[in-house]
Amino acid sequence: MAVGSTHAESGMASQIGGHCPGTANADQPALGAMANPQVARSHNIGMELTHFGHSCLLAQFKGDSGADATVLFDPGNFSHGFEGITGLSAILITHQHPDHADTARLPALVDANPQAVLYADPQTAAQLGEPWRAVHVGDAFSIDHLTVRGVGGRHAVIHPEIPVIDNISYLIGDGSHAARLMHPGDALFTPGEPVDVLATPAAAPWMKISEAVDYLRAVAPTRAVPIHQAIIEPNARGIYYGRLSEMTDTDFQVLEPENGTEF
Ligand SMILES: [Zn+2]
Repeated sequence: MAVGSTHAESGMASQIGGHCPGTANADQPALGAMANPQVARSHNIGMELTHFGHSCLLAQFKGDSGADATVLFDPGNFSHGFEGITGLSAILITHQHPDHADTARLPALVDANPQAVLYADPQTAAQLGEPWRAVHVGDAFSIDHLTVRGVGGRHAVIHPEIPVIDNISYLIGDGSHAARLMHPGDALFTPGEPVDVLATPAAAPWMKISEAVDYLRAVAPTRAVPIHQAIIEPNARGIYYGRLSEMTDTDFQVLEPENGTEF
């Protein structure tokens, strides 16, 4: 299924290019080649990422002792496949919206991972209650050999009439690099430091594609993987992935759902 959907996206992107003569992308190669460039990647950071749809990512970091630190981000109601996971070191939630924190499935996930530490933005931590802990901007804490920092603080503006809620963006680093991975949640927060891998929002009700491109350019990570794409019909995702891969210098890679990718 995962392979099929990848082909479908590539095919759709080609069709879109063909139907838009005169536009910038008409002469460009099929999206599949760009979204999953078959190039040798320069450095191995010892991290495996698994995408469970939308903004739910599992990051597994190899420790010096051989034990992995495993961190699950944003198990929301558009995500699937995370339900049976055990052995998590931590669950990190960026904000309270159901597509990032599925309160129907969270209790079973937490019960199955009694050793996991649970962190969320202050509003979500208050809503979920103990043992969830609030992460404020500037906070730093350890998960095994990793250091996690909370940055940003506010959700992107959806509409000026809608109150802005808390959203904590997370930077995860180890002893040799302070920002191996960044998960911004629903925000376009630029950390102002080198990031190895950015989970970059591909599309959202609070963002247009030019903002997505400019955000990826601003953070300028070595590599990026798209998140928050469940709001786009699968056949249309190539429209967004194509711009993000064509218009930035970042090594942009669409993760195969529920299948770990080494970084
Ligand atoms: Zn969202």
